[in-house]
Amino acid sequence: MKAVMKVDKNPGIKVMNTDKPKPGPRDVLVRIKSTAYCGSDLHLYKWDGQAEKWNSPLPRILGHEFCGDVVEVGGNVSSIKTGDKVAGETHIPCEQCIMCRTGRAHICENMKIFGVHVPDGSFAEFAVIPETIAFKLPSDTPYDIGALYEPCGVAMHAVQRAEPEPGDVAVVLGCGPIGIYVQQIMKAIGSDVIATDIKKFRIDHAKRVGAAREVIDASEGNTVEKVKNVIGQRGADIVFEAAGAGETVKQSLDMVAKAGKVVLFGASPDNPTLDTTTYIVYKEIDVRGLTGRYMFSTWDRVERFVSRGLVDLESVVTHKFPLDKAEEGFQLLLKGEASKVILNP
Ligand SMILES: [Zn+2]
Ligand SMILES: [Zn+2]
Repeated sequence: MKAVMKVDKNPGIKVMNTDKPKPGPRDVLVRIKSTAYCGSDLHLYKWDGQAEKWNSPLPRILGHEFCGDVVEVGGNVSSIKTGDKVAGETHIPCEQCIMCRTGRAHICENMKIFGVHVPDGSFAEFAVIPETIAFKLPSDTPYDIGALYEPCGVAMHAVQRAEPEPGDVAVVLGCGPIGIYVQQIMKAIGSDVIATDIKKFRIDHAKRVGAAREVIDASEGNTVEKVKNVIGQRGADIVFEAAGAGETVKQSLDMVAKAGKVVLFGASPDNPTLDTTTYIVYKEIDVRGLTGRYMFSTWDRVERFVSRGLVDLESVVTHKFPLDKAEEGFQLLLKGEASKVILNP
């Protein structure tokens, strides 16, 4: 079968032929119809410090956001059958540690990441996944929509962690795909939503999607002041930090109202320090972090929002390519000229 492979630690990928994988007793074989690029695929493409930290086995097939049809199931699989349309969790939990057994399998103590740790991902014609991470989709779900449940799940998780209240004012720092999904979900539940970004491409994209009442250019001037001029000096009830930079973490603490909530899910490489006395003690801010998705309550919630038309998963897609043109997708993303890119094997 054809696959997008990372063969060694040099930057780049190769589209090549490799063996079709075989499912083990508790696995299912999926014919991949749609698979989307994620930030982690870029780390692996470049093989930067983050990729080095993950210590991914090479050679490997990249990709982990996908949708397809089950074409074969292992002998011990009971919940999924041939012909089911599935998407998949990226987090493969051990099912035995205390986190797994207390409802937080997404932060399993022995977590493996699909497409990062297990040898092969979804940028291919077929992929094998454990039954435990398969999520059965309604059969009329378009494949490109199914592939985007995973990233939208992070946005849904962020909103769940924020525990919003009626009439909240929410600011979303960052207009990448997940930031845009957060904007749509918060708008759908009745919040006033303001967004910021520093990149013109992303600002224009968020404006076109139109979930935020205002999209503020944070590339110059005082962003906290600009936001407060729109929402009022009291600040936001909730700030979602979806940009993953030290600067935006700092801004989120300054633009949130007293007793408000800051939700962090961008992984900031600069690991900003936090003035706990000023913000957590005297301002009584709740700072909440999250990674991945609740398994599988976020998936269930995404399905409800998609089926009621409350979130438009396709709105973040800017490009679609066949596997042969995978390199083009990487180049566009590296140049910041794409939002979500999809491969259709
Ligand atoms: Zn992802
Ligand atoms: Zn576990």
